[in-house]
Amino acid sequence: MATLPRHRVQSRQTANACAPADDGLWPSDGVIFDRKCTACPRLAAYLAEGKRRYPHYYCAPVAPFGDRNARLIIVGLAPGFHGANATGRPFTGDYAGILLYRTLYRYGFSNKPESTGCGDGLELRDCRISNSVKCAPPANKPTPAEIRTCNRFLAAELEREPPGRILLALGAIAHSAALRALKLKQADYPFAHGAQHRLPNGHLLIDSYHCSRYNTQTGRLTESMFEAVFARAAALLKKKR
Ligand code: SF4
Repeated sequence: MATLPRHRVQSRQTANACAPADDGLWPSDGVIFDRKCTACPRLAAYLAEGKRRYPHYYCAPVAPFGDRNARLIIVGLAPGFHGANATGRPFTGDYAGILLYRTLYRYGFSNKPESTGCGDGLELRDCRISNSVKCAPPANKPTPAEIRTCNRFLAAELEREPPGRILLALGAIAHSAALRALKLKQADYPFAHGAQHRLPNGHLLIDSYHCSRYNTQTGRLTESMFEAVFARAAALLKKKR
């Protein structure tokens, strides 16, 4: 059993863990999202141990969040143990979400600059956030097998999308999970921050470094670099209207 991370964020939102189908979360339809999935034994055991230690945490697969008909689909890596795994909403409750939700608001993709948990009234506009892996992994590192196993959910989610969506991948793992979900060759679309790939199915894949605490604190990703990616996505979507 992997060691659970130290509790770093004491937040009121952990008392308000979201249930799927609440508050803009994708319902547990078993195709795009399955709240009861335990297909990855290591992750299922990790979440079960997490629930024992933190009974008020959500500790289950985390559903996509936002507009079901969004033209901008953000693909993240996986829930953070004390973030989305605690609250049940992607990028909520830990550091990575602060910059993401502030930036979404700045470019008109939400009605509020913060995500504090279920019942906070946050709505995403023309935007949805999904993760490559729906369960929190130890040390934020899913194994290649777990990424492959969970990819069926992202594949089902993207399969229903009409051509012309913008997929914004946060980090190299999300980038390659999106390509895998779309059955495209990784070598044809190399990851780089700010890269933009026109895909054969009519979607556009834009890459950004992940907005993790590590990346922002080391300067690998600055706020202006992150904003530039969203500014471009917003401008492209505006042109398409
Ligand atoms: S990571 Fe995905 S496939 Fe694995 S147990 Fe969680 S929901 Fe199921």
